[in-house]
Amino acid sequence: MKIRVLGCGSSAGVPLIGCKCPVCVSTHPRNKRSRVSIVVEEGPSRILVDASPDLRQQFLTADLATVDAVIITHSHADHVHGIDELRSVNVHKKGPLDFWAAPEALAEIRKRFDYAFQAPHGTYVWYAPVLVPKPITERRLTIAGLPVETFWQGHGERENTLGLRFGRFAYSTDAKTLSEEAFAALEGVEVWLVDCLTEQPNYGHSHLAQTLDWIARVKPKRAILTHMNHTVDYESWTARLPAGVEMAHDGMEIEVA
Ligand SMILES: [Zn+2]
Ligand SMILES: [Zn+2]
Ligand SMILES: [Zn+2]
Repeated sequence: MKIRVLGCGSSAGVPLIGCKCPVCVSTHPRNKRSRVSIVVEEGPSRILVDASPDLRQQFLTADLATVDAVIITHSHADHVHGIDELRSVNVHKKGPLDFWAAPEALAEIRKRFDYAFQAPHGTYVWYAPVLVPKPITERRLTIAGLPVETFWQGHGERENTLGLRFGRFAYSTDAKTLSEEAFAALEGVEVWLVDCLTEQPNYGHSHLAQTLDWIARVKPKRAILTHMNHTVDYESWTARLPAGVEMAHDGMEIEVA
């Protein structure tokens, strides 16, 4: 299995518009973070997780034309506002695209992107995305031929996000709290791509000390931090992270045996 990290940045990206902090003005390529999306590939199957507002440039950079399905972790703008770019997938597939999300997230997304959920009409041109809503109502399901396990994560006081497990790989973006059920779903995972917004505790996201505590409990072979904001400098953080913990960067490719 191969995971491509298309983007690993916080909701406003790094650099922030107008910010002159050391990370935002840094010329280090790994201090440039687009909004989060990943692609999970195994054999002929390719699943996109989240539709970043930066999706167009991410597909161009990764030389990606199409995917077999999309899974959305939650309906926040930084995870869905690239939906319009999925038109290109319809054009290349010459067909509709399965669009998986929890029922509440699907309802919210359909309010904002109703035009993308019109009945498949048989012509796939650059007019509008043609998405087939697929509610995630089971904990275990098969998407584009791949077994996927989902689990809930807390994301602030009222929000929840879907954590995803694909075999030995798990993805926990936008997580502030993990339940015992979530830890059970993560048991035995070998590579874990996990939320770590910044150093300071945050309302909706995990911060460094807590994420390291989670990693000590889950004990993956390899833990990779993501959804990082503009306070996080790639080189200085990389130098201080414990063994087995590393930073994601845009364009990172992760092989999972
Ligand atoms: Zn987010
Ligand atoms: Zn900044
Ligand atoms: Zn979010």
